[in-house]
Amino acid sequence: MRTIVIIPGDGIGPEITDATVEMLKSLNLPIDFEYHTMGANALEATGELIPQETIDAIAKYEIALKGPVTTPIGGGFRSVNVTLRRHFDLFANIRPIRGFGKVPRRYDKVDLIIFRENTEDLYAGIEEQISEDEAHSIKVITAKGSRRIAKAAFEYALAHNKEKVTVVTKANIMKLTDGLFLESARKVAIQYPGIALEEILVDHMAMELVLDPSKYGIILTENLYGDILSDLGAGLIGGLGLAPGANMGKDVAVFEAVHGSAPDIAGKDLANPTALFLSAAMLLDHMKYYKEAQAITTCCNLVLSQPSNFTRDLGGKLGTKEYTKIFIKRLREVLNA
Ligand code: ATP
Repeated sequence: MRTIVIIPGDGIGPEITDATVEMLKSLNLPIDFEYHTMGANALEATGELIPQETIDAIAKYEIALKGPVTTPIGGGFRSVNVTLRRHFDLFANIRPIRGFGKVPRRYDKVDLIIFRENTEDLYAGIEEQISEDEAHSIKVITAKGSRRIAKAAFEYALAHNKEKVTVVTKANIMKLTDGLFLESARKVAIQYPGIALEEILVDHMAMELVLDPSKYGIILTENLYGDILSDLGAGLIGGLGLAPGANMGKDVAVFEAVHGSAPDIAGKDLANPTALFLSAAMLLDHMKYYKEAQAITTCCNLVLSQPSNFTRDLGGKLGTKEYTKIFIKRLREVLNA
């Protein structure tokens, strides 16, 4: 029996986490679920944004499924997500972007996967108030950090028979920092002779993805660009409700949707749990439950092939609970087929 740490989080987090755990339990796998807190709800209950017992549980079980969490603005709090990623050195943020079923989208064929460096860049949190009228933020890029995310992208390309990796930077302007990221990617690329390294500047890439995303597959990039391009990617496939993610380190892996806590729709049974379902599929894949992971993805396609199954964010009418019920029923059929 293996244990997964479950962190419901804030806003719509508890609703979509409940739905996802219900979906996972329906698979009858030898998995235990241990609940822990993090974010605004944890601060209220324990006085800490990331309680020590949550850290200890993630360190012990090395695998977590996490809802979105809110970091209170002001009060000098560091982002919960950034702190967690740095604490466990979750250096690779892997975000697949795929269109499902009949969800309205600009392009039918979108199949991207973003490998985003997750611990450095402007997210390192090194800021300085120079004067009342001036503030600085320091961009940190290291060869080690750049190489290991590049290696993760190339290893994925190799395992999935892909011909190229597209590295995205602004190395023409930030010659030292982005230059180092690009140079590190080039060095890693040499070790993979069958896979091309395509180099694109981030502004151009934003336009390219909107014009024709089918030209791209694996995107390798820095922390900030990766964050922005993931939301752009989510926009290409019908919205944030469908974009999953994984934060991978050497030992620990934390799975979570790309979207945030969406406080505007929290507690109203309006949230689309699909992004967390798909994050759970990535988790099962990581645990080597390949059949079940694939079944969740297949089920997304099947369920979302019927517009009557759409949640509100996709232009439909279903609430979180009703959608989950339909999804689980269909998942059972997929697994029994
Ligand atoms: P954060 O600052 O944590 O990123 P945010 O509210 O600025 O949070 P998101 O929560 O990522 O940004 O999402 C923006 C909007 O997209 C939400 O306000 C919500 O209306 C919609 N949205 C996001 N995720 C979902 C979802 N799973 N289901 C339905 N709508 C969603």
